[in-house]
Amino acid sequence: MTDFTAKKVLVLGGSRGIGAAIVRRFAGDGADVAFTYAGSQDAATALAADVGARAIRSDAADRQAVIDVVAGEGALDVLVVNAGTLVLGDPLTLDADAVDRMIDINVRAPYHAAVEAARQMNDGGRIIVIGSVNGDRMPFEGGAAYALTKSALQGMARGLARDFGARGITVNIIQPGPTNTDMNPADGPMSATMHGFMAIKRHATGEEIAGLAAYLAGPEAGIVTGAMHTIDGGFGA
Ligand code: NDP
Repeated sequence: MTDFTAKKVLVLGGSRGIGAAIVRRFAGDGADVAFTYAGSQDAATALAADVGARAIRSDAADRQAVIDVVAGEGALDVLVVNAGTLVLGDPLTLDADAVDRMIDINVRAPYHAAVEAARQMNDGGRIIVIGSVNGDRMPFEGGAAYALTKSALQGMARGLARDFGARGITVNIIQPGPTNTDMNPADGPMSATMHGFMAIKRHATGEEIAGLAAYLAGPEAGIVTGAMHTIDGGFGA
């Protein structure tokens, strides 16, 4: 556990999966946590009540909504951008609108959220974005557009780390490998293939990813910035 008492944390995309685990971790460690969701109202309401967080309905595909929700939280200590979607398939037949919506959620939203957060963020603040090991490695067909979105975050983190470094604000990307969520269930049809790429042949848990987020947001990580933090059971090794 890390003591986040009196720290103000916003998680974009916190109703389910990795985001929900991050909400639970920060709230359990004493932070004042708000999180957004788009579709899963029941899950969001239940989580908020369970851990004492605030749930805000806000679609990450809507740039102005992203900016407004971040601005509305005021001076944050920690921003975590977790909301993401996965569109896989043959690039020759994939729906172009679905690909563009994924780019809006996975790339545009993190950029605008990070910039907006930095306007009011306290010195020493932390910006953490959930990327993917697929930003480094795309070992199967059909993942080009998703990999594009996750590798774009790498350049963003390197650049924004320099833009905000004078204020002690750090910008980091967490790159999970297969993690047991609705997006990628451990008992899903692709699991055996994915485990074949891994040194430790199992899905991660959301709690394991949340532990890395807590480290990056905590007092020991003040000099860690502009970096990609892969947590993937050796998927990319
Ligand atoms: P899930 O699909 O299980 O959960 C996604 C979360 O993001 C939900 O809380 C969802 O909220 C929210 N979300 C999705 N779209 C929007 C939107 N338009 N606006 C606001 N919130 C949104 O995904 P995971 O937990 O598996 O993934 C979380 C992140 O981790 C993603 O960025 C993903 O790319 C990344 N990742 C996941 C891996 C895995 O194996 N699971 C591996 C590597 C990276 P709601 O349901 O309310 O819409």
